[in-house]
Amino acid sequence: MEIISDIKKMREWSDNVRLKEQRIGFVPTMGFLHEGHLSLIREAQRYSEKVVLSIFVNPTQFGPSEDFSKYPRNLQRDLEMVEKENVNIVFTPGHEKLYPKGYQTYVQLESLPNHLCGISRPTHFRGVATIVTKLFNIVNPHIAVFGQKDYQQVAVIKQMVEDLNFDIKIIASPTIRESDGLAMSSRNTYLSPEQRLSSTSLYQSLKKTQALIKEGIKDVNTLIDNAKKIILNFSETSIDYIKICDIQTLEDMININQPVLMALAVKVGKTRLIDNMVLYP
Ligand code: AMP
Repeated sequence: MEIISDIKKMREWSDNVRLKEQRIGFVPTMGFLHEGHLSLIREAQRYSEKVVLSIFVNPTQFGPSEDFSKYPRNLQRDLEMVEKENVNIVFTPGHEKLYPKGYQTYVQLESLPNHLCGISRPTHFRGVATIVTKLFNIVNPHIAVFGQKDYQQVAVIKQMVEDLNFDIKIIASPTIRESDGLAMSSRNTYLSPEQRLSSTSLYQSLKKTQALIKEGIKDVNTLIDNAKKIILNFSETSIDYIKICDIQTLEDMININQPVLMALAVKVGKTRLIDNMVLYP
């Protein structure tokens, strides 16, 4: 495993791999790795001979009052975790190299960011689309793997790849959960033991909604009210959004007559957690 932080070196490595007609799989992350990230690495290995993992806490996807400065970082720990995973390159570009003084170009989608997380985080997907474009241009992968845990992010990236003619196959990989159902996330480390208990409410509400749909309840408002009650029954929870929407456009649904996406963002104390599930009638 090699660690590269220089952009030119990263490009040269990719050029060499491509000369050998080997495929490059890419897993972009913000580090503080967990089993969810490792599952993406394993998925990338299924489709490619070489795997690049990037670790970069991207400032442009955080809003001014969000947790950029306190986002958990521990490169040594991350390297130890990936050492066992057959990753070829860990790419750790510096902020000043990716966003030098005078930087002014951003990638913005028109409609997908106007839903779900994009409402309370209005500049988030512009930051995501921009950094992923930059990393795609540097790493030049054949495939890239993203987690379904960030469902809207995958939708944004897939749309961007199509719109901007990137020759990269995007793979969405399932959400990895703790044994009690909590979706793994670097931000889970912020939670106190009591908040950790409250955080199980997200998955519980998703599962309960699926069960209610199977029992024949199809009215979205009824389902959302029920999910709200489950979540607010736990201490320190407040709801950013709970939505049941179209799996492609992310537009709100009224009734459930086809597979739908249920997505939610809940604050537990100060920590904002997200989760989602595709629900079937
Ligand atoms: P992050 O480091 O949080 O920006 O995440 C990097 C990648 O890992 C993104 O594609 C996420 O969707 C994915 N990811 C994060 N958590 C999980 C999880 N619990 N299961 C699967 N993928 C995940």
